[in-house]
Amino acid sequence: MELEAQASDRMDTEECTPTPLQRELPVIRRLDEAVVNRIAAGEVIQRPVSAVKELVENSIDAGSTSLTVLVKDGGLKLIQVSDDGHGIRYEDLPILCERHTTSKLSKYEDLQSIKSMGFRGEALASMTYVGHVTVTTITKDQLHGYRATYKDGVMGCEPKACAAVKGTQIMIENLFYNMAARKKTLQNSADDYSKIVDLICRFAIHHTSVSFSCRKHGAARADVQSVSKSSRLDAIRSVYGVSVAQNLLKIEVSDDPSSSSFKMDGFISNSNYIAKKIAMVLFINDRLVECGALKRAIEIVYAATLPKASKPFIYMSIKLPPEHVDVNVHPTKREVTLLNQEIIIEKIQSAMESKLRNSNESRTFREQKVDPLDNSVSTSKAASTPPSSFGTKPQKVPVHKMVRTDSQDPAGRLDAYMQSTQSSQMQRNSCLASMRSSIKERRNSRETADLTSIQELVREIDSSCHTEFLDLVGHCTYLGMADDVFALLQHNTHLYLANVVNLSKELMYQQVLRRFAHFSAIQLSVPAPLWELIMLALKEDELEPEGGEQENLREKIAEMNTKVIKQKTEMLEEYFGIHIDQDGNLSRLPIVLDQYTPDMDRVPELLLCLGNDVNWDDEKACFQTIAGAIANFYAFHPPLLPNPSGESLQFYKRASSGDPEQGSTSHSADDIPEEQLEQDLFSEAERAWSQREWSIQHVLFPSMRLFLKPPTSMATDGTFVKVASLEKLYKIFERC
Ligand code: ADP
Ligand code: MG
Repeated sequence: MELEAQASDRMDTEECTPTPLQRELPVIRRLDEAVVNRIAAGEVIQRPVSAVKELVENSIDAGSTSLTVLVKDGGLKLIQVSDDGHGIRYEDLPILCERHTTSKLSKYEDLQSIKSMGFRGEALASMTYVGHVTVTTITKDQLHGYRATYKDGVMGCEPKACAAVKGTQIMIENLFYNMAARKKTLQNSADDYSKIVDLICRFAIHHTSVSFSCRKHGAARADVQSVSKSSRLDAIRSVYGVSVAQNLLKIEVSDDPSSSSFKMDGFISNSNYIAKKIAMVLFINDRLVECGALKRAIEIVYAATLPKASKPFIYMSIKLPPEHVDVNVHPTKREVTLLNQEIIIEKIQSAMESKLRNSNESRTFREQKVDPLDNSVSTSKAASTPPSSFGTKPQKVPVHKMVRTDSQDPAGRLDAYMQSTQSSQMQRNSCLASMRSSIKERRNSRETADLTSIQELVREIDSSCHTEFLDLVGHCTYLGMADDVFALLQHNTHLYLANVVNLSKELMYQQVLRRFAHFSAIQLSVPAPLWELIMLALKEDELEPEGGEQENLREKIAEMNTKVIKQKTEMLEEYFGIHIDQDGNLSRLPIVLDQYTPDMDRVPELLLCLGNDVNWDDEKACFQTIAGAIANFYAFHPPLLPNPSGESLQFYKRASSGDPEQGSTSHSADDIPEEQLEQDLFSEAERAWSQREWSIQHVLFPSMRLFLKPPTSMATDGTFVKVASLEKLYKIFERC
């Protein structure tokens, strides 16, 4: 009893001094309604463009056919949206801007079938918490309209009768007047108006029955002006310009006709459309949304099929049964989640891929250039100081040090060979050569893919495709690398080990044949002499001591191979994008897989294969062996430096067991302490290995999913090994 009395005492005397315990604990209070609303409003209306989007959506929901947007000071001073829609009833004006007042939804179940863009009844309310809102509206058959002003969700005074034209005009002034920090950041950013223009452009090409205009306050001309009832292509032309509209391909995809649950139609840019950024306009059930997964998937298709035009313009309208779209996932309804998203994305990807491949009649030619002077000092230093762990002979410089790839640079670097004095001349020559070849290309656009031997090789790929493995690579989940060569995959309830070297080699081989005579180029920073490269490859092959007869023999073989390759330069360039200049220097390599630079340490091996292993007498065999050599060069081999995270850590430790004292003292540039060198080697190896693993996950597997047709031979050559069935594993666990 006494305790109870004390407790109620404390509750009654809220104002009295708190006990020490009370002072330490945070007190929970109910927030002021106005504070709650302003916080919520700040989320819904993040920038002026979010207010414009809400207002435009309201106008479209009101059945408008004409819509005008006027903006002052990037939207901070004024946003005014006028429409010719059905207007707002006089009786509704008092609660119009209260939170959760809407004409579009009455019970939760309606969400399942909702067609309007709004439904939360939050937008107008939010605007009144962060700006001053004035609404002028007239409904059908009324003689005059009404005007009302709103602040913090509440109507200012009785609506005033006024003259009005059909529809509604909503004006927001002084946006964020009460949110100083946000206003300041927005005032400093100049791009809010362009964001608004971009938004209206998007709406204009989708809602072709509505005419849109968007204008800056005081400007004589509108920045967007569309005409209602125009065709989609006309709308795109008038909004985005002729240069976009003339380079578009129409695309349509639908589910099997019986179920009719998914339909997509749109326009996608072709190989002539070159832009710096991807432009993606996506509507799902007429709602302007974003879908990161779909965007990434589209980027992959373009990078793989039209590398030169890999920043496309995309307009897509997807229709799905409303119950398949969860519109309620995002407060501003911007990101959506779809049922069967993966399947839909795959369907779109494959339709786009075949559309783009069919349209890609003209050749693609792209060059990646590297400044030969850039970074050359540090590289040549590295090349001249080989780590001791590679043996004592100075000639036996590891290839990865001589032919150096820069992981920061997608084009790779090959500059350890040359003195910089020679390089500028060579660079000029190679520029000239590349210009000549691109001119030749334009003048002589003969269709090379109709060579029957290439067609036959491609047909062989198709006909020997193993359907089960096709499904496996198409639908597996990459779990990680199990060791240096095998990746662990999950497909349905099975786990597999897959040999990434074999798989990548096959993928590259198929890509070389598919891209035959259509390669983009990797430009080497400095052309590299064939003979020396082949000599390097020959030395790598043998462990015998150098000098004497062996050396003579090697030199002869290198000479012969160089000669063979030099005789075939024209064909190698035209069909395979391998450019060798007049002085016998390799200067360009083909891009076989976009977003992936091959390991330049393997260039010598590639050249040795070309000189030694190609059957030049028979056309088909010749193309096949060259494709094989390039594929081998491009394959995801383990890097030449041992994996520092595996057992080979010893490799780096062993060499650092030199005099530790020496390691800590300072040295001249030529006399780098051994320990430091090993550290360099170690971090270089770490970088190479982690970059490879990243590429396997993010480039190899997504590309295989799209392009690889696994041959039946993979059923027996150990490329795939089934390691476990998850069902069986679960059973074992259950028993345990
Ligand atoms: P929601 O769109 O989610 O319903 P809003 O706050 O955006 O919520 O709008 C509240 C209501 O105001 C809408 O449901 C609609 O009835 C009405 N409304 C808003 N803008 C217009 C407009 N331009 N024309 C006609 N009615 C409008
Ligand atoms: Mg709305």
